[in-house]
Amino acid sequence: MCYDLAVNLTNLTREEMRQWIVTLGEKPYRGDQVFRWVQGRGVHDLEAMTDLAKPLRERLRAEITTAPLALDAMQLSQDGTRKLRLKTHEGRFIESVLIPDSGGAGDEATDQDEEEGDTPAALAPRRPKLTQCISSQVGCALDCRFCATALLGFGRQLTAGEIVAQVQHARSLVASLPAEDPTRRAGADHLTNIVFMGMGEPLHNLHEVERAIAILTDPLGPNLSPRRITVSTAGLVPGITRFAEVPPVRRPNLAVSLNATTDEVRDEIMPINRKWKIADLLAAVRAFPLERRRRVTFEYVLLAGVNDTIEDAHRLPQLLRGIPCKVNLIPWNPHPQAPYRRPEQRVIQRFQEELRRGGLAVYLRRPRGDDIDAACGQLAARGEDHQPLVTLRSR
Ligand code: SAH
Repeated sequence: MCYDLAVNLTNLTREEMRQWIVTLGEKPYRGDQVFRWVQGRGVHDLEAMTDLAKPLRERLRAEITTAPLALDAMQLSQDGTRKLRLKTHEGRFIESVLIPDSGGAGDEATDQDEEEGDTPAALAPRRPKLTQCISSQVGCALDCRFCATALLGFGRQLTAGEIVAQVQHARSLVASLPAEDPTRRAGADHLTNIVFMGMGEPLHNLHEVERAIAILTDPLGPNLSPRRITVSTAGLVPGITRFAEVPPVRRPNLAVSLNATTDEVRDEIMPINRKWKIADLLAAVRAFPLERRRRVTFEYVLLAGVNDTIEDAHRLPQLLRGIPCKVNLIPWNPHPQAPYRRPEQRVIQRFQEELRRGGLAVYLRRPRGDDIDAACGQLAARGEDHQPLVTLRSR
């Protein structure tokens, strides 16, 4: 690593911080102390770091401690979902969404049983969830035809510091909200889950995503369990294989946006499939190690007349046979410029029933925050008037 330039202290894992601080002639444990202030307590004010000697604090002044993202705007949905728009140092925008429990049964209510360790689900009190959906890139390089983020094109990779800063902003926001605030009303007083399902393809930014997860799961940092972190991919096979090698203490859950049951349809709606076919993708998923009671999530965006046929519903359980998994059905969320429709309710229900009949665990995802363009596939950094803040690419 090169230390000629100022080091952004929010962008270092604990191990990197320990190594760097040694180059200043300090003992490695001083790195732990700085890390704990910055990532564990979210403190950027050097004066507050009272367990550090003054000369070290003076030396740290030359480095950057401020969060690399500024909170630029916030929108609140009728359902309590909050969308945060964050600005990078060079003035680009990314989005991050806070999603409280919906309070109803049906969608992801049963996720909890996996997270309560050995306690039988029926006995475990259901702890309210507050999930943050975070971005891994500015825009996205993939060109999934149904997704609004794709229209932005690829801006750049986010650094680990920027990925973690989204969580830090959300943590301090949630801590400042009164208990009766709509985002907290379901009962969660802190962030419980993180999903890499915002803007971007996390496995296309594997190095920074891995470093971000190292920071997020660090006991001296936010100390999130990797069981409560999910990385979602459109199907970058080498990335899945790489992720499989991450040690279990840092290995998050895997979600795969499958969205089709034939290569013909998937090639069309997700061009990444022309590179890695469904069979290659599922082979990589089958090789992904799962801890006890863990499952892979398959997301399936339902597009009317495209991937919602009864044949699809019959093929899907065949394809996924033998993989410990669950399927999240996401009725397509509309956004301008897309030639798709959400299937009718009865079609969605029949699809779900057929999958159940085929032996799959299926959850129907209700759109959350769609009134503020915060639902799956709607993140495109638009303003309050739904107009783009950046130029969209046209197809
Ligand atoms: N690139 C990663 C992370 C993004 S996750 C991935 O593809 O998994 C975003 C999820 O929303 C994906 O499952 C995607 O298939 C889904 N999605 C995209 N556009 C959507 C839309 N308009 N309506 C519903 N879901 C959508």
